[in-house]
Amino acid sequence: MDKNNLFRRIPKVDILLEEGKVLDLIQDYGLSYVTDKVREAVEEIREEIKLLSPSEENREDEILRRIDHIEDAIAEHVEQGIELKLRPVLNGTGTILHTNLGRAPLSHKISTELATLLSSYSNLEYNLEEGKRGERYSHMKEMICKITGAEDAMVVNNNASSVLLILSTLAKGGEVIVSRGELIEIGGKFRIPDVCAQSDAEMVEIGTTNKTHLSDYQEAITENTKAFLKVHTSNYCIMGFTESVEAKDLKSLSLEHNIPIIEDLGSGVLLPLEKYGIRHEPMVQEAIESGVDVVCFSGDKLLGGPQAGIIIGKKKYIDAMKKNPLTRALRIDKFTVAALSMTLREYLHMEGIEERIPVLKMLSEPLSSIKERAESLCNLFRDNRLPGDCTVRACTSQVGGGSLPDTYMDSFAVSFHPHKISVPELEKRLHFTKEPLIGRVMEDDFWIDLRTIREEELERVVESFQEALE
Ligand SMILES: *Cc1c(COP(=O)(O)O)cnc(C)c1O
Repeated sequence: MDKNNLFRRIPKVDILLEEGKVLDLIQDYGLSYVTDKVREAVEEIREEIKLLSPSEENREDEILRRIDHIEDAIAEHVEQGIELKLRPVLNGTGTILHTNLGRAPLSHKISTELATLLSSYSNLEYNLEEGKRGERYSHMKEMICKITGAEDAMVVNNNASSVLLILSTLAKGGEVIVSRGELIEIGGKFRIPDVCAQSDAEMVEIGTTNKTHLSDYQEAITENTKAFLKVHTSNYCIMGFTESVEAKDLKSLSLEHNIPIIEDLGSGVLLPLEKYGIRHEPMVQEAIESGVDVVCFSGDKLLGGPQAGIIIGKKKYIDAMKKNPLTRALRIDKFTVAALSMTLREYLHMEGIEERIPVLKMLSEPLSSIKERAESLCNLFRDNRLPGDCTVRACTSQVGGGSLPDTYMDSFAVSFHPHKISVPELEKRLHFTKEPLIGRVMEDDFWIDLRTIREEELERVVESFQEALE
């Protein structure tokens, strides 16, 4: 084999830059970008020739063919170069609020409406009635207050920011009393003691891991006490011999000593989950009703909206927070204002809300309807003759996102065992398809939990499998 001959057959870069197809690319993407991509395509073929071993004589023709079609390779490089790294994926894990997969998906209605708003200017910080500067929180304040019963509201980047802003506004330089049973780590190194330290508030721990009494709060009060902090232990649970003090029982102590109660609820549940057969999760409305002065929760957990930290409560505290310079650093952008307003609007009338908020839809879907979808997927796999065995199987899904850790929901999955490749190989290949699919590997099968796959995604699941099994 004459490698030099092959090398010589590769056209020069400046010649390629004058080819018709490449000229079109230059028109669309500019000379310097396309030149880079031409070099990449040429280099790719050179590398391949370099690596050819004498026993691969028969690959000469294939290489020559590729040289003849080098414009196609260039076009591919151009496209790959501008392909977004953040892409939609199919969630076959069954975990509804998968933090690694972006937590809550928004509804089609909301995404469509968002698109219209984002391509134009908006009255984000402009008060149309008065014709002067407005406030970005004003668009949501009324709705949040109406839904939760709170006096005032504001929104920051995420709920971790809420806790930081609240403590650094209300407890800076003073003491904040927290039960040892509530000193949680949320994930990503976000721990309650660290947030207190960051906010320059001295944390006063009371009680024990499993039991904290009202008297523990009472005995810890000093003239430096700035707040009681309650943290909903949303991502773990203690069972058995336990006792904690609820906000409503703390209220008289709070009033007597003029110490505000702060409650970090984690997930912002706005409706009773027991109607979906899930255990009661403290609701935002209940916290306000029981007299908590400042409540915070996430926008993209069980609320089903965009990433955000919603802070509600007494107007005087919210006003103080708005004046804190941290607020500017933690502020939300117009995407969040828009998406959160649209999500909250759905909560203004609760009837049939499961149909309008995807997270609630997945949470409340009857088992029989998940099973039907699993059967449809299995049939599609068979109709398309995918090389492998597929079976509809019972499984369990979780809520995820650090919510309801002890709740396992019955669900249905399709388990697939490929004939020609291994299960780990299938899993890997599914990550590189046009629309990547994330699932679970169990018992040497690949499982797709249908709770988090919608009807209109079924065809796309099949396409991803076809691509992976090619
Ligand atoms: C999830 C959670 C947070 C953090 O919320 P993010 O929106 O993820 O920043 C804070 N506190 C509790 C109790 C949580 O469960």
